[in-house]
Amino acid sequence: MQEPLRQILEIQELDMKMIRLIRLKREREKELEQISSLRAELRVQMEEKQREIENLSTTISAQEKRLEESVARIKKLESQQSSVKKVDEFNAITQELTAAEKERIALEQKISDLVDRRVSEEEILEKIRESLKTSEESSRVLEEEVRRSISLINEEGRTLKQERDELVKDADSQLLKIYERLFKNKKDRVVVPVENRTCSGCHIVVTAQHENLVRKGQNLTFCEHCSRVHYWHEQEPTEAAAAPRRRRRKAAASS
Ligand SMILES: [Zn+2]
Repeated sequence: MQEPLRQILEIQELDMKMIRLIRLKREREKELEQISSLRAELRVQMEEKQREIENLSTTISAQEKRLEESVARIKKLESQQSSVKKVDEFNAITQELTAAEKERIALEQKISDLVDRRVSEEEILEKIRESLKTSEESSRVLEEEVRRSISLINEEGRTLKQERDELVKDADSQLLKIYERLFKNKKDRVVVPVENRTCSGCHIVVTAQHENLVRKGQNLTFCEHCSRVHYWHEQEPTEAAAAPRRRRRKAAASS
């Protein structure tokens, strides 16, 4: 393989790592957002409940004022009644008193219902407040963990960038430009080997003629289908391929 391509391949591996890092960072940032949006939702619920309770209290005070007035009216009517002489006047006041009493009982009932409601709303508010507290405590631990992991990711990213900057210094600048443009588009490996007469980027079969050109490696060859740069992957005996042979020999010797 041509040396310039080999350098680009090294840069490409770093860029792939960087993409994975960025993806991971985004995931972790999303986790942070979810944690804080859950808390924000609980806070909104709590504020709504507080407002509801305030409104209830305002209504209760208004009703209590009406009750006081009603009680005062009844007292006044009773004292008026004790001083009238005529029967029809007495009866008229009795009628008014009956109506006033009815109103007083209705008001007392209403106030009692409202107070009951306020008690149950306050219980709900207390529950929301508790779950907010629990969620704040547990999410603080989680948030710290996520933040730590993000800072590790950033650190790794900085190291990757330094390594890349070093490699770029020696790279063929024209080839690098082509590579970077392709990589930016695909966000995937764009310098790929031809294997079994197939582009290992798009997995489409190439012609024998194209394969020969790639093998010769005199010019830069692009995949007709996906525009990736092709290179020829020389088959070299690898550690992994050599190991089983050694094991087999050992096994044969011991039997
Ligand atoms: Zn292709």
